[in-house]
Amino acid sequence: MTATSVIAPILASRTAAAAPELVERLPDGRLRCYACGHRCPIPEGREGVCKVRYNEGGVLRVPWGYVGALQCDPIEKKPFFHALPGSDAFSFGMLGCDLHCGYCQNWFTSQSIRDPKAVARPRDVSPEELVALAEECGAPTVVSTYNEPLITSEWAVAVFREAKRRGLSTAYVSNGNGTPQVLDFLRPWVDFYKVDLKSMDDKHYRELGGVLANVLDSIAAIHERGIWLEVLTLVIPGFNDAEEELRRAARFIATLSPDIPWHVTAFHPDYKMTDRGSTPARTLVAAAEIGTQEGLNYVYVGNLPGGTGEWENTRCPGCGLTLIKRFGFRVLENRLISGACPRCATPIPGRWDARVEGTTRTHGIPLPVIE
Ligand code: SF4
Repeated sequence: MTATSVIAPILASRTAAAAPELVERLPDGRLRCYACGHRCPIPEGREGVCKVRYNEGGVLRVPWGYVGALQCDPIEKKPFFHALPGSDAFSFGMLGCDLHCGYCQNWFTSQSIRDPKAVARPRDVSPEELVALAEECGAPTVVSTYNEPLITSEWAVAVFREAKRRGLSTAYVSNGNGTPQVLDFLRPWVDFYKVDLKSMDDKHYRELGGVLANVLDSIAAIHERGIWLEVLTLVIPGFNDAEEELRRAARFIATLSPDIPWHVTAFHPDYKMTDRGSTPARTLVAAAEIGTQEGLNYVYVGNLPGGTGEWENTRCPGCGLTLIKRFGFRVLENRLISGACPRCATPIPGRWDARVEGTTRTHGIPLPVIE
């Protein structure tokens, strides 16, 4: 790990060997990591781009046994709008990321290895303790988020194994910079997957440290694997808000399936990107209209509660009835019956379970510190 990083020695004692599915020994002795789309070939004594996975003595060491952030939120905040609406999502994250977006809203955890101002620190915890906390807060879903979960997939799967053993659902909130190997590794353990599609311009992706094709391939692969998928685009003025770019994003998603929800959400100046204002409501409404013009059945505007009319609600594509009424992250009314429209019986795609829907107890309340 980098000698310059204050946190590196703290994290070095919290690692395990990588899952065999996510590492390949190359003929020259380097280790190829498949946890994210960078596919780093890592020489002995060096780390990958994410700085949290490293080659020590011919073993790929990966993050293990801690969390960097913990919170119980409405699942709509992730956002998932077609998965257990109105329930809580027990959210945990580790530290580090494979990208370095200047507008990251979770930079205190994602950039903690690169940026000395990011102060999140690890707290040791076991999968059993985490899942017990999820049950304590009444959350039917456990979510890996706050840092990029792909790069800490072994730990997420350890937590998800325990969550599933106790009957809970599981989810990833991710930048989607995956590989077929990591998605195969996750498939048995991840129920819901949200991908941030940040741009349709490869030049922009490279500014953030990624490659557009990797993300598009992963979105298609997640959908093919039958994991419930929702896609989000944070619409940033002057970055990705051109009509043609938004249209290409919507068209790409619709080509996979018109039933994949697309969230177009408002940017607010954050972290290093403070040179522009927030996204105007009219831009978001225009983006949502583009989504429906391109054939998507479920397009949502986010981060502007009550500010864009019907765009927070789920409507039946068959008869137009409003099925789920929302205000921000709150579900005000859910009229679905067994996952279908009560008026015309059109099935609405998603993951529904009336036993846990509408049970939200918390609204972004930080959980007690684990000692
Ligand atoms: S997770 Fe990605 S960035 Fe990190 S070592 Fe593996 S391939 Fe490289």
